[in-house]
Amino acid sequence: MKFNKHLQNISNYEAGKPIELVVREFGVKNDDVLKLASNENPLGCSKKVQRAIKDCAKNASLYPDDSMFELKEKLAKKYEVKTQNIIIGSGSDQTIEFAMHAKANENSAILVAGTTFAMYEIYASHVGAKVYKTNSKNHNLAEFEELYNKHKEEISIIFLCIPNNPLGECLDAKDVYDFISKIDEDTLVVIDGAYQEFASFKDSNKHINVKKLINDFKNTMYMGTFSKAYGLGGMRVGYAVSSQSIIKELSKLRVPFNITTLSLKAAIVALDDDKFIQKTLKNNFSQMKKFEKFALKHGIDYIKSYTNFITYIFKDKNATEISQNLLKKGIILRDLKNYGMNAIRITIGKPKDNIRVFKELEKLI
Ligand SMILES: *Cc1c(COP(=O)(O)O)cnc(C)c1O
Repeated sequence: MKFNKHLQNISNYEAGKPIELVVREFGVKNDDVLKLASNENPLGCSKKVQRAIKDCAKNASLYPDDSMFELKEKLAKKYEVKTQNIIIGSGSDQTIEFAMHAKANENSAILVAGTTFAMYEIYASHVGAKVYKTNSKNHNLAEFEELYNKHKEEISIIFLCIPNNPLGECLDAKDVYDFISKIDEDTLVVIDGAYQEFASFKDSNKHINVKKLINDFKNTMYMGTFSKAYGLGGMRVGYAVSSQSIIKELSKLRVPFNITTLSLKAAIVALDDDKFIQKTLKNNFSQMKKFEKFALKHGIDYIKSYTNFITYIFKDKNATEISQNLLKKGIILRDLKNYGMNAIRITIGKPKDNIRVFKELEKLI
């Protein structure tokens, strides 16, 4: 059977390995598997949210409120924007897809950092759009500007991942605003804020002011998610905030009921539990220090991280071998070989989980 030509060049996104696989392949007990590969919240999710999901189970037969009014209203309040500035996605991944289908096609291109979230490129390939990447792995705005000016006619979307996954580095907000002011109005600038809660907590200079962003620049779209700090990766809820006219276009691409009745409830309640978020952020950065100390002690290079993970770069050790050996011990990390790096990305876990990681890593390096 013949399929669309551009499908031939699409590689599948390598998702973090599931717990089930490690149980099956290496005979590790389910409870002993430590999953630090997908940047999920090691504290789980808010107890309030768990109760709300249980209470909501009886409504599983009902379709959700497709206007998602209550959730949009809460988000609108949080960001000081209007509900018409918001669209909800099945994970913020889906809002990347909306943007791609709205703006990119086989005659256009997207512009991204040298090493960044793989889904931008994958969704670009779905519509046959070309991908320009900066030479630098991290976000270098001078290079972005140069490439943009060179291929202005082609580039329809620029993705800035702030902070960046899988490296963890983060641009200053004022540099981001400066950069956007140099971009034509017809080019969409997407700011992926999947880890913004972490970056803003660590350093207020990294905080993207969403209200200011969309008021000052009509061609920007900010994406947020409930999968990381809120601990709701399994619920699949994300959102985009943008000008009303962009949201109106993106909404044409959203199928009805794109998140579930339970997910909708979970997200609404999650926004009420700020205590849980604060606890998450505090654990993350106090534990992050231990990862930095460990790296220094063992001569491992690491990238200063504004997220809930840290990237260790190895010189004379093989990162793939290290992550394979850890897998046998039931510890799942992300090998960055696919990104062309001899490095591993580790989600910051709970104190006792991290001690286990250090103990096993120490044997391998
Ligand atoms: C996790 C992540 C997302 C979105 O995840 P969803 O679960 O689809 O909301 C988006 N961008 C980056 C950079 C991420 O790491």
